[in-house]
Amino acid sequence: MSSGASHDGLAVCGVTRRFPAPEGGYVTALDNVSLTIEPGEFFVLLGPSGCGKTTLLRTIAGLEYPDEGEVRLGSERLDVLPPYRRRVNTVFQSYALFPHLTVAENVSFGLEMEGMSRREAAPLVAEALELVRLPDFGRRKPAQLSGGQQQRVALARALAKRPEVLLLDEPLAALDLKLRRGMQTELKRIQQTTGVTFVFVTHDQEEAISLGDRLAVFQSGTIAQIGTPQEVYERPASRFVADFIGDTSFLEAEFTGEGYRLTSGEVLPADRVAGPGGGAPGPVTIALRPEHLVLAAEEAPLHGVVRESVYVGSDVRVGVELTSGEQVAVRLAVGAACPEPGRRVALDLLPGRAWTVAA
Ligand code: ATP
Repeated sequence: MSSGASHDGLAVCGVTRRFPAPEGGYVTALDNVSLTIEPGEFFVLLGPSGCGKTTLLRTIAGLEYPDEGEVRLGSERLDVLPPYRRRVNTVFQSYALFPHLTVAENVSFGLEMEGMSRREAAPLVAEALELVRLPDFGRRKPAQLSGGQQQRVALARALAKRPEVLLLDEPLAALDLKLRRGMQTELKRIQQTTGVTFVFVTHDQEEAISLGDRLAVFQSGTIAQIGTPQEVYERPASRFVADFIGDTSFLEAEFTGEGYRLTSGEVLPADRVAGPGGGAPGPVTIALRPEHLVLAAEEAPLHGVVRESVYVGSDVRVGVELTSGEQVAVRLAVGAACPEPGRRVALDLLPGRAWTVAA
């Protein structure tokens, strides 16, 4: 199914969307949002509930219209076209399959709506069901399928129309964790096979990081950061992004030019933190993750008391209250000597992994 492959990039330019709030005034769901998505890219919109992800997806689909700004696919203005004229299709979380139609009829439906006969549509239906690995399920009704299989049918139906852009709104949210992981791998495979541009909404940061070629992190109707999963995970642009992605702790410090003086008076050598690298001395916030910290000998720069130690299956997460009063988490391998709650420990940071963030 290569002919659905995208040739045109999708551009969202200065889009603002306001809704009348029931309590009076307006909610600004999207506030001057701009982003460019490359043809054939797997692009993820990530953010907490209510930050505007779905509104942006619906604006691209044509289910909402922007108050300001425009949406373009290549040189074509999308936001002036009705939904059915856009080279875009949507997969909803609810699947929205017709219960009285068979799987094949569900997949065929959209093609027939566009004027194809059922016979003309048949090879496209077969190809789409093959793509989602349900070639023998065409005669079943949706109720005779598992949740994961229903999701695949919804995907086949959307892809059969060969859109250039496929919009997916939390498509895996209703699946249990194991099925969800399996479907993530499938989605990635299908996206790579078809070359269709995927715009995928989720509030699950792990899903965003494992699926996206790039992701946009939303914060109250604006974009806090756009980047590859690695860029966003390793160098969050702000405290909000650092807090939203991964298990992050924050330390307030004074950069002295040579090191970072914590509120406890302890000093982290400059090489323990990435940035501000030659910047002016002054107050900074250091963001760090459990995998950046190690238990160390007494002369290490940080000290604290173990408050909890929690076995999380793959490793043990140890919560430490530092002398500064700030809380950090350390990740230890299962089976490693694990300090009991109440014990004093010394900690060190692996060089260059923690970083400073803007407020
Ligand atoms: P979720 O992950 O919970 O679906 P989201 O990031 O997709 O959230 P949106 O659904 O885009 O967020 O909503 C953004 C904001 O706009 C929210 O404050 C929401 O309450 C508001 N909003 C969305 N649709 C409407 C509407 N039709 N009328 C009024 N307010 C709306």
